[in-house]
This record gives sequence, C-alpha cells and structure tokens, in this order.
Amino acid sequence: MSKERANKCIECTVTNCAHHCCDDDYCSLDSIKVGTHECDPTEDRCTDCLSFKMK
Ligand code: SF4
Repeated sequence: MSKERANKCIECTVTNCAHHCCDDDYCSLDSIKVGTHECDPTEDRCTDCLSFKMK
C-alpha cells in the first residue's frame, strides 16, 4: 500500500491488515466500519475494526 493513499483521518497501527499503509500508521481506506464482539462493550478493547482484511 502506498503512502499517498494514507487517510490521515484514520490512524491505525494494525500492520497485519492489507489496508494498512506500510510506513505510516494510517489506514488507506476512505472509511471503515467499527463494531464490537461484546454484548455490553465497556472498554476500547471491546471494539473491532470490521474492515480488517488479512494481508
Ligand atoms: S481496515 Fe481497519 S485494521 Fe485495517 S488498516 Fe484500516 S483501520 Fe486498520
């Protein structure tokens, strides 16, 4: 993924994701979907990026 496509509105450190910008900690997508795997989320770790795609 090229740096030019880094979406500066979406910071991300998940380097295993195919949408991650290699050298920059940003997502390359125009938008993402966030969800949860919990029935009653109470902390940031309860949430997930549902746009994640394995490299
Ligand atoms: S799709 Fe989600 S996990 Fe993947 S780089 Fe973008 S924000 Fe990060």
